[in-house]
Amino acid sequence: MMTSRRPMPALFLGHGNPMHALSRSVWSDGWQKIGRSLPRPEAILAISAHWYQPECAVTGSLAPPTIHDFSGFPEALYRVEYPAPGKPELARRVQELLDPLPVSIDQERGLDHGSWSVLRHLYAEADIPVVQLSIDQRMESRFHYETGQRLAALRQEGVLILGSGNVVHNLHAYAWGRNEAAPYSWATGFDEEVQRILLAGENERLIDYELLGDEARLSVPTPDHYLPLLYVMGTRTEEDSVTFPVKGIEGGSVSMLAVQLG
Ligand code: ZN
Repeated sequence: MMTSRRPMPALFLGHGNPMHALSRSVWSDGWQKIGRSLPRPEAILAISAHWYQPECAVTGSLAPPTIHDFSGFPEALYRVEYPAPGKPELARRVQELLDPLPVSIDQERGLDHGSWSVLRHLYAEADIPVVQLSIDQRMESRFHYETGQRLAALRQEGVLILGSGNVVHNLHAYAWGRNEAAPYSWATGFDEEVQRILLAGENERLIDYELLGDEARLSVPTPDHYLPLLYVMGTRTEEDSVTFPVKGIEGGSVSMLAVQLG
């Protein structure tokens, strides 16, 4: 395997509405630009908000199917395929790095829209192998951060660690179909606070996000879309710069913030 001298950057992307998979927008333009700017990864390990289950598992299929895990969207979205190959040896490498934590290899599971709606813009050719790691919903936020720390070695092996969620994700307040809606002040407040915390490297505050008050409660009503960020931040090294290649709030209550390490 070719090993890059510099560790592969790691990425957290705010994916937002699944329709971004199809449309061209300020967000998809940003994702395309990121894809062009990164060194080409050997493989991608994706951690998506939409594989949130009471177990730690990785996809093991050589040809993971495209999962259309949503309802009520236009037919065109159900026709999207992202036929990236899988990579069973990366799945086994994840098992090895997380040992003795039990990690099952799921031969059936494919890629959910948290992964493909952004990967489609990052790597339109779908020619880089993708493995997905589930988020074990039974575990506290610290577990997810520490799992990221244990996966950090993959960055030395040319693997792009890609967290996909949203720093602010409140669908009760989301303006469906009215994306020009002004951001709620709590959404902007929390989004900016997280950026300050990331720049300051205050990982403990990031892990204990529930202590960040009302803005955090409204922005992270359930942990699924926030936790992928903790995996990415767990891989951070002292040399890593932190940048935000995409920023903004969509529909009033969903942050599209992208965070790049390295
Ligand atoms: Zn989502």
